[in-house]
Amino acid sequence: MQKGIVYLVGAGPGDPSLMTLRGVECLRRADVVVYDYLANEQLLNHAPPAAERIYAGKVGGRHNQEQEEISDLLVGKAREGKTVVRLKGGDPLVFGRGGEECQALKEAGLAFEVVPGITAAIGAGAYAGIPLTHRDFTTSVTLISGHEGGDGEDGSIDWERLGHDSGTLVFYMGISNLRQNMGRLVNHGRSPRTPVALVRWGTTMDQQVLTGTLADIADLAEQHNFKPPAVTIVGEVVSLRETLRWFDTRPLFGRRILITRAADQAGEFAGLLAERGAKAIECPTILMVEPESWAPLDAAIAKISEYDWLVLTSANAVRYFFKRLDALGLDARALSDCRVCAVGPGTAEALHGFGVRADLIPDSYKAEGVAAAFAKLDIKGDRVLFPRADHAREVIPHELGCMGALVDSPVAYCNVMPGKLPPEAVFELEKRAVDCITFTSSSTVRNLAAMLGEDRMVDMLRGVAVASIGPVTSKTCRALGLKVDIEPAEYTLPALADAIEAFLLKSGADSLE
Ligand code: SAH
Repeated sequence: MQKGIVYLVGAGPGDPSLMTLRGVECLRRADVVVYDYLANEQLLNHAPPAAERIYAGKVGGRHNQEQEEISDLLVGKAREGKTVVRLKGGDPLVFGRGGEECQALKEAGLAFEVVPGITAAIGAGAYAGIPLTHRDFTTSVTLISGHEGGDGEDGSIDWERLGHDSGTLVFYMGISNLRQNMGRLVNHGRSPRTPVALVRWGTTMDQQVLTGTLADIADLAEQHNFKPPAVTIVGEVVSLRETLRWFDTRPLFGRRILITRAADQAGEFAGLLAERGAKAIECPTILMVEPESWAPLDAAIAKISEYDWLVLTSANAVRYFFKRLDALGLDARALSDCRVCAVGPGTAEALHGFGVRADLIPDSYKAEGVAAAFAKLDIKGDRVLFPRADHAREVIPHELGCMGALVDSPVAYCNVMPGKLPPEAVFELEKRAVDCITFTSSSTVRNLAAMLGEDRMVDMLRGVAVASIGPVTSKTCRALGLKVDIEPAEYTLPALADAIEAFLLKSGADSLE
């Protein structure tokens, strides 16, 4: 039997890209992942789909009995010969009871490895713009368990020493005892004017920072109903935040934007929004699948050298066309006699990924733009291959046909409705926590209306800014009762992201500071 092993992996402080490469490697080979409340669930996507995923988290502390059960679980799975990843928020050995889990594994004679992670203090400090040490202020930092909910790690806090320590102090699990702990520091000699920052969900798009002093932070936290999980940073370095904050000053920080694109396409757009600080909520309303029959596309590919033009109107069309070319044992060289038109820069970029440069990109990135670009050329008698989605509009075959071209438009992929919407996304809409919804094609709007019901969709989107990629999608929005607030002049994702930024900036954001 294969020997079992347990990897205690630090998931980092929240932002899923702040995990180590070694941690990702371990997840990739896991048979079982046992994860905590604080470990970002997106990280589970690194594990193989077949890996068993066990949630072992609990909000705010854990009883010994539960901790023993977790240790037993790790021991049991490893004894079965499994590769187990114990995924813990931050660093596994900083206030995470990881040490106890190692002891249990050691006692059982099982192999383990510890993969460190960025602990909350380091992550939250960095993303709040607070250097934990700074030559002008302090040269030491102390990590302290502020004790929340019976974790039992605070019994030995030397308040006398902490009160006289001029260095930075970072309390974990300290929100419920905030008033008491801040009071103790003052009672033991620390100036009540010492700056303090509370950082909640540090490094994530939900990060909240509240600043004050030892004297008033507890009152402020109460006023703002400030909740865990948060670290409390105490020390003069906190004052640097005013000039050094960089993460939560991004233009769309704190804004929540729903993306309705297909799941495998949402990432690029989510990245554009994240750069601006917004949180993307994925709610795919379309699913791309293979056509029922490849015969029409295969027949066209069989005589590919006879075509004068290949017209591609989406990155999906590019991907499906080249996938099929590959399945038939061909590659980009099959296009050597044929010129290629891409509807816009995104499609051209996808083409470039397959080693093909677009010969023609219209000025206006939509079907009508393609027709207008061809109208300037003489395509009478030309043979045009237009691999398309099943419900694509007839503009291109019709217009190019009128110009005397012979157009074949086989279906290269189908756009279908997914079985259901992600419940988390619907929940966000229901609790009115969405600032903006984005539609990047007519089918994204039509499917959302079909899945939610038209009236319910209109009702749920009241007060939510509606962003549409271009006039065709906007028209579909209006036909289904939605008012379009945002439509970029250029029909691309970067332009859409810019237009969303400009619109949302006009309607200011909430802030705790
Ligand atoms: N092993 C973890 C700490 C676990 S104790 C680590 O190294 O970070 C749990 C406490 O960590 C929480 O109560 C909170 O104080 C802190 N914490 C974890 N993630 C946090 C985050 N993203 N932002 C702020 N505090 C966080």
